[in-house]
This record gives sequence, C-alpha cells and structure tokens, in this order.
Amino acid sequence: MIKGTTQLLGVIGYPVKHSMSPIMHNAAIATLGIDYVYLPFPIAPERLKTAINGFAAMGLTGFNITIPHKQTIMPLLAHVSPVAQAIGAVNTVWWNEGSWHGTNTDAAGFMAPLQALGRDWSQSPALILGNGGAARAVVAACHQLGCPEILVVGRSAEKLAAFAQGWKTSPLQPPLAVHAWDRLNDLLPRVGLIINSTPVGMAPHGAASPLTDAQIGLLPSQAVAYDLIYTPRPTQFLQQASTAGLMPFDGLEMLVQQGAAALEIWTQQPPPVEVMRQSLLDYLS
Ligand code: NAP
Repeated sequence: MIKGTTQLLGVIGYPVKHSMSPIMHNAAIATLGIDYVYLPFPIAPERLKTAINGFAAMGLTGFNITIPHKQTIMPLLAHVSPVAQAIGAVNTVWWNEGSWHGTNTDAAGFMAPLQALGRDWSQSPALILGNGGAARAVVAACHQLGCPEILVVGRSAEKLAAFAQGWKTSPLQPPLAVHAWDRLNDLLPRVGLIINSTPVGMAPHGAASPLTDAQIGLLPSQAVAYDLIYTPRPTQFLQQASTAGLMPFDGLEMLVQQGAAALEIWTQQPPPVEVMRQSLLDYLS
C-alpha cells in the first residue's frame, strides 16, 4: 500500500519503458513488506542535472541508471565507488548524509552465476564480443574472477582503441587486449569464457547470432558461453553453444543479481533473490 510514509526508489533512462527493474523491485518490496515503491522515470539527457536535483528535493532513497545516463551521471555525484570509477559507469545511486553516492553493481551481477560454479578461472582466457558500456563491466568482472587474459573483439578500430585507452587510467589494470572482428577465428580456440556483449540476437532479431556454427565449433569443449541478452531465452548464440556441448548462461541472472545488490544498498536488508528472479520469469513468459 502506498502511504504518506512510502519512500521512493526508481530507475532513470531514456527511454525507460522497456525496463523490467520496476517488476522485480516491486515484487521484492512486497515480499519484504517494506514501505517503498520503485518507479520508472524517463529523463531526457538535457534534463539529467535538473532531475537529480529534483530527486534530492523529493527525498528519493535511491535509483538505478540505465542508457544513456550511466556515464554522464558520474560528475553529478558527490562520491563514486572505486569499482564504478574503474568501469567508468554508475548504475546505482543512493542518498547518504546530504549527497548522492554512486556505484556499479553490473560487474557483481555478471559474476554471480560464474562464481556459483566454483571454477578456477585462472586458466580461462575470456573473450568479450563488443566494446560498449556493458563490456566495461564485464572486463572488470573477468579481471576480478581471475581470468589470465581478457580479449575484447569489436568491429570499429577507432572504438576499440578508445576502449583500450579508457582502461589505461583506471585503478584496475586488467590483462586486456583488443582485436578486430576478423581475428576471431585465431582467438576462439584458446578461450575458456566467451561473452556476447553486443545486441546481436536480441528480440525481435532472435534468429541472429554474433558467431557462426563453425566459429562456435572452434571453442574448447569446456568453455562457458555467456550472453548478456535475456530475450529471447535462449538466444541463438546460446542455442549454438548448447548444441556444441558448451555451458550456457544468459543475461537474466545478471539483471536479477545487479538489482538485488542495489536493493540491498538502499534497504540494508538481504534481498529476496528468488522472488526477483521469478517475477521476471513470470513476466517474460
Ligand atoms: P552498447 O553500449 O550500445 O554497445 C553495444 C556493442 O555491440 C558495441 O560495441 C557495438 O559495436 C556492438 N555491436 C552492435 N551491433 C553489432 C553487430 N551487428 N556486430 C558486431 N558488434 C555489434 O550496449 P551495451 O549497454 O554494452 O549492451 C550490450 C548488450 O548487453 C545489449 O544486448 C544489452 O541489452 C545487454 N545488457 C544486458 C544486461 C543484463 O543485466 N543482462 C546489462 C547491460 C547490458 P560498435 O561500438 O561498433 O557500435
């Protein structure tokens, strides 16, 4: 029940109508029986600063950030955590002692299902397809997992160079190398973890995959295939990987776990992860 005492949480983006965060957070809030509500806020880029000041005036407890604000919000925050500085993006903000604090829970969310495997990743080079915003969180996560090499493959030499340059000043120093897309066939045979961090294969283009069957066949049989996409389930990329006998992971768990980590920051309570996961599964089905 929304009352006079109800505290506000939310997600900002532009657009934000596709976001599934309100579904899982409000399901968690109901389960915890706490006096919060989580709302979507479409904020145009030129209104970001006004919105943040407005949120402070309204007394929001905190909020998530999605495209296109993950980088541009950083200078508007009083404190940015080391992990968010290293990634160069913030996805979770909270109000504390009169100012906004930000961090990034995407890397922790990405890592959670891989850590649950209990595998030693120190012999598993990681290969990331794509060099966008999510790839930065994945680089930080692969570094934290202990992957000995992190290979980032992209289609634009200019953007790849900028991506590599961005890590030069980061407090993290991941063992990173960037490669053009046409180098893929040489790289695939030595990879232990491959991640699709491009939108290729996302609904409504679910028949597409970033790799051909022949390229999937070049991966070692013990490799793990991870697609950040969660619609369709499974993606074409993960279907190919399963057929080749690789272990598949999709982006749903990352979404759930980054949200759970954010909710814990805001409420200081253990999040009901299973409820959050099930709310998304119910919605998607
Ligand atoms: P982004 O910043 O737009 O980056 C997308 C990357 O994919 C860019 O490097 C882009 O290359 C590349 N790309 C796009 N189309 C391509 C194609 N046809 N062939 C090869 N490369 C292509 O997006 P993002 O925020 O990193 O997100 C990437 C994916 O992760 C999306 O599908 C998103 O939904 C998903 N995601 C999932 C979660 C989760 O919680 N599960 C969280 C964040 C993101 P150029 O740089 O050359 O354009």
